[in-house]
Amino acid sequence: MKIAILSRNKRLYSTNSLVVAAEKRGHDVRVIDYLKCHMEITSHRPAIYLGDEKLTGYDAIIPRIGASNTFFGCAVVRQFEMMDVFSLNESVAISRSRDKLRSLQLLARKGIGLPVTGFAHDPRATEHLVKLTGGAPLVIKLLEGTQGVGVVLAETKAAAESVIEAFRGLNANILAQEFIKEAGGADLRCFVVGGKVVAAIKRQGKEGEFRSNLHRGGSAQIEKLTPEERSTAVRAAKIMGLNVAGVDLLRANHGPVVMEVNSSPGLEGIETATGKDVAGMIIDFIAKTAKSGATATKGKG
Ligand code: ADP
Repeated sequence: MKIAILSRNKRLYSTNSLVVAAEKRGHDVRVIDYLKCHMEITSHRPAIYLGDEKLTGYDAIIPRIGASNTFFGCAVVRQFEMMDVFSLNESVAISRSRDKLRSLQLLARKGIGLPVTGFAHDPRATEHLVKLTGGAPLVIKLLEGTQGVGVVLAETKAAAESVIEAFRGLNANILAQEFIKEAGGADLRCFVVGGKVVAAIKRQGKEGEFRSNLHRGGSAQIEKLTPEERSTAVRAAKIMGLNVAGVDLLRANHGPVVMEVNSSPGLEGIETATGKDVAGMIIDFIAKTAKSGATATKGKG
């Protein structure tokens, strides 16, 4: 198969891991910097170029679109879909997953367990927002944050109100969330490929830190999931329409709650901690699934 990985940098661990796995299986694989692509938007003959070169003959693409390049990256993915190239994750699902609030609304609609979450525009709603999330302590998040930046634990009602006010002053979109204390600064990253959890790790924040992000000094180890955790992760990926997803769960007293569904989950943490060839499983899934007409949306919607 001829596979393109849409990634800005072929030296990134995840990108490299996918290249190695694809080559090992005899596929023709190439890394394409999607920001260097341009598109010809014409009826019946959509085309995509990298410099002077017209990109043709691809059977599948693997989008690895950075959060800050969602808009253009998704347009490139959509263009491939219009050319009937199979995309591991479709553009519609990627843009859906990049909007935290929209994602939570979609998951809530299908009855997935979530931390109680509030969102408002009007500052006069602040007090009610704090109340409906169960009061302090509560978590306040910047909607556009990644890697734990802009995620704050407010210990008191007064602290919560001043953090909300400060973020509002910056004109940032924020959400307020019930603090799942019993998670003990740990979360579960469940790696879903083709409707199955193929690997899972528990990430534990460093001493005194409620955020478990590896970028913030957290550590990761392989973890056995309960059947309920497994099915929650699989259902969350399915609701988002993602073939490959990193579903982040917290262990709450009343069962697993979904924090986030990531459409470009990193491979380094999960492969290192579990010793599993997750990249290989992704390539095997593509080999089994990619064929003309297998793209559900063809960029529609
Ligand atoms: P980011 O997407 O920036 O990583 P997250 O929403 O995943 O932000 O939050 C970062 C970390 O903070 C999570 O991995 C988790 O450990 C912790 N955390 C986030 N929300 C909650 C919550 N409601 N209750 C308890 N811990 C939380």
